[in-house]
Amino acid sequence: IKKIAVLTSGGDSPGMNAAIRSVVRTCAFLDVECVAIYRGYDGMIEGDFVPMNARSVNNIINKGGTILKSARCEEFRTPEGRKLAYDQLIAEGIGGFVVIGGDGSFRGATTFNEEFDFPVIGIPGTIDNDIFGTRYTLGFDTALNTVVDAIDKIRDTASSHNRLFFIEVMGRDVGHIALNAGVAAGAEEILIPEENLGLERLLDSLKRSKKSGKSSSIVVVAEGDKIGKNVFELKEYVEEHLPIYDVRVSVLGHMQRGGAPTAFDRVLASRMGVKAVEALLEGKTNLMVGIMDSKIVLTPITEALRGHTKIDKELIRVSDIMTT
Ligand code: ADP
Repeated sequence: IKKIAVLTSGGDSPGMNAAIRSVVRTCAFLDVECVAIYRGYDGMIEGDFVPMNARSVNNIINKGGTILKSARCEEFRTPEGRKLAYDQLIAEGIGGFVVIGGDGSFRGATTFNEEFDFPVIGIPGTIDNDIFGTRYTLGFDTALNTVVDAIDKIRDTASSHNRLFFIEVMGRDVGHIALNAGVAAGAEEILIPEENLGLERLLDSLKRSKKSGKSSSIVVVAEGDKIGKNVFELKEYVEEHLPIYDVRVSVLGHMQRGGAPTAFDRVLASRMGVKAVEALLEGKTNLMVGIMDSKIVLTPITEALRGHTKIDKELIRVSDIMTT
């Protein structure tokens, strides 16, 4: 392989820029040409390519978002769209690409690899931490810290007014952000998709908490929680069944996706980028870079797509103890 391409695709996450930088710098270090593809698979289909050198990625390690832009591309889901993309890559002399994105982006990459026998390596960039084959995805740690900061601030105002807050955080299918942020910020209850606590237990817990003299209560709710009510419905439900509380809702939303990446995410991105380029040059393909037991590892993308990293049962237990 003489030329490697890098792109960011799907939902963005903090740390993507640090990963782009790492891929570009590793190529420069190993004397391999590097090309950036703008706007994800859209840019691949349109040939939106820009040559990169070590200096093209100065001063981006600390920036959130992605300088290459990201996109959701319907055309890439069709064989015709992928053929167009393939023709563009071949015309540019690209011998393999590194895609930084989530499970959708990986699904596209693995299909592309199987159709054209084209070398691809994935770097998991998503705040949800919902990809199998890596303990941490890129951006998770940053998002977690952002959420903890936000909850700390909400707690200040909650305790001044003796209020109960339902705080919705991201996590459609997994509760990693909710559980970790809940423990770190001292939430009274944490509602995650993996465990349905049920409304009765929630009410009991809130009653107990009030009785024990807590001045404020924070309940962290993952987007994809299965209790059957969203945060606004939860507020109504609690107001109706437990009128002792003055209830408020806060939906943190897209702020969770932004911001300067933490040191952890920058280091992780740097390590993953090096591994991704080295893997391509060693003739490996259709793999995702991940981190397991503090080691950088490769997992077949098809495996990575098979499921989510399971929520830590030990952490659930810790959380139960802490909310006593
Ligand atoms: P994420 O990578 O964050 O999960 P998406 O699910 O939107 O984001 O996927 C990003 C892009 O990957 C899609 O817009 C599409 O171009 C491509 N993609 C997703 N799923 C497939 C698929 N099954 N086949 C081909 N391409 C896909």
